[in-house]
Amino acid sequence: MTYNGILQLNGCLFWKRDCHAFSLLRPTIPSRHPNNEDVVMGKGVCLLLPMITLENVTKIYRADGHTTNAVENVSFTVNEGELAVLIGPSGSGKTTTMRMMNRLEEATSGVISVNGRNIRSMNVVELRRNIGYVIQQGGLFPHFTVAENVSIVPRLLGWNKKRQRQRAEELLALVDLDPSVFADRFPRQLSGGQQQRVGVARALAADAPIILMDEPFGAVDPITRNQLQRWLRQIQRDVRKTIVFVTHDINEAFLLGDRIILMKDGQIQQNGTPADLLRHPASDFVKEFIGDEFALQALEHTYIAELATTEVPAMPDDGLVISGDLSIPEASREITQSESTGHEGFWVSNGNGEPDGYVTYEEFASVISEGIASDVENENRDEINPELIGKENAKPDAISPR
Ligand code: ADP
Repeated sequence: MTYNGILQLNGCLFWKRDCHAFSLLRPTIPSRHPNNEDVVMGKGVCLLLPMITLENVTKIYRADGHTTNAVENVSFTVNEGELAVLIGPSGSGKTTTMRMMNRLEEATSGVISVNGRNIRSMNVVELRRNIGYVIQQGGLFPHFTVAENVSIVPRLLGWNKKRQRQRAEELLALVDLDPSVFADRFPRQLSGGQQQRVGVARALAADAPIILMDEPFGAVDPITRNQLQRWLRQIQRDVRKTIVFVTHDINEAFLLGDRIILMKDGQIQQNGTPADLLRHPASDFVKEFIGDEFALQALEHTYIAELATTEVPAMPDDGLVISGDLSIPEASREITQSESTGHEGFWVSNGNGEPDGYVTYEEFASVISEGIASDVENENRDEINPELIGKENAKPDAISPR
């Protein structure tokens, strides 16, 4: 079964025809923009433009008589406003691939373009001005205050002190650190998670369109890590940067990625949306890497806000409001416990006043159905019963109350 529906990509709304409900969970990014009829709603026309392109890029390290083919013949595109995750086992070439984008490493062969320009033809300073960079533990200077750390690039750009301070305060507020409390502290006076946030604020400071993030949340405890991940998703909705994010954690990749590029031994094994990797893993390696429980993982990392349409019917007094931050299983539990499900759907709030989204129970059920279907499909690929992937087996009352 396919649907027509609205798909939201970083604040832009797309009308999609003949879409599997599952693909509405995550933005489906066309490799080229088919035609204008795909983009008819929301804030005007919003084209997806390639921001970073790698064509047949290879990196060979030669040291002490040893040769390492760190990256071999890699090609991919990251579109404007997209968050692309580079993932793979240790030594698979993720960091080298990323570091070639801002010329911390030079490619041995191949072409890397940023915004349509070959980066070899660009001055390195000019290139890096367009690219924020976040590393593990924030990479903060210990003897600079938080505000000074955030202002490093604006200072290099010659902004006056007042403007630097204003920008630092704005960004600290954006990353949920109260400037009146944190601006004048030193990094050692912050927790690991707070330092990470400052690292992100610093990368946003000069308003570079691209941010590279190299295992930025690798050094914090799992709870803080999860909070930072959710927060990054939220912030990305507001700032719409083109982000390349290196990790070896598949949950993180599914949680954050619009696109996942899975690498092994310097080569790309698969490049697709999270749904592509779940539903059509390209090889046994991809399947093993993702792990057995990936369908449920995907639902755990899919949020109600991603399903919500922005055409919101008037809400009756007894309408059910669900927070857009809840994952599908969490929302399912809330719906099941709620008294007020007598309507066709529920309203979605973003925590700022009136609900600004709406999801029908039918749509919600079909999303769960698709998740279950891909679980069944992967456990029992040859014996799948087509009935199971239809909507009939996941009626709203299977997951919501009478
Ligand atoms: P990942 O980020 O996936 O862990 P890297 O890109 O860091 O992988 O490394 C890919 C391969 O390149 C590894 O075999 C690593 O040992 C090698 N490598 C990385 N940096 C260097 C370097 N500066 N000199 C020599 N070999 C390197």
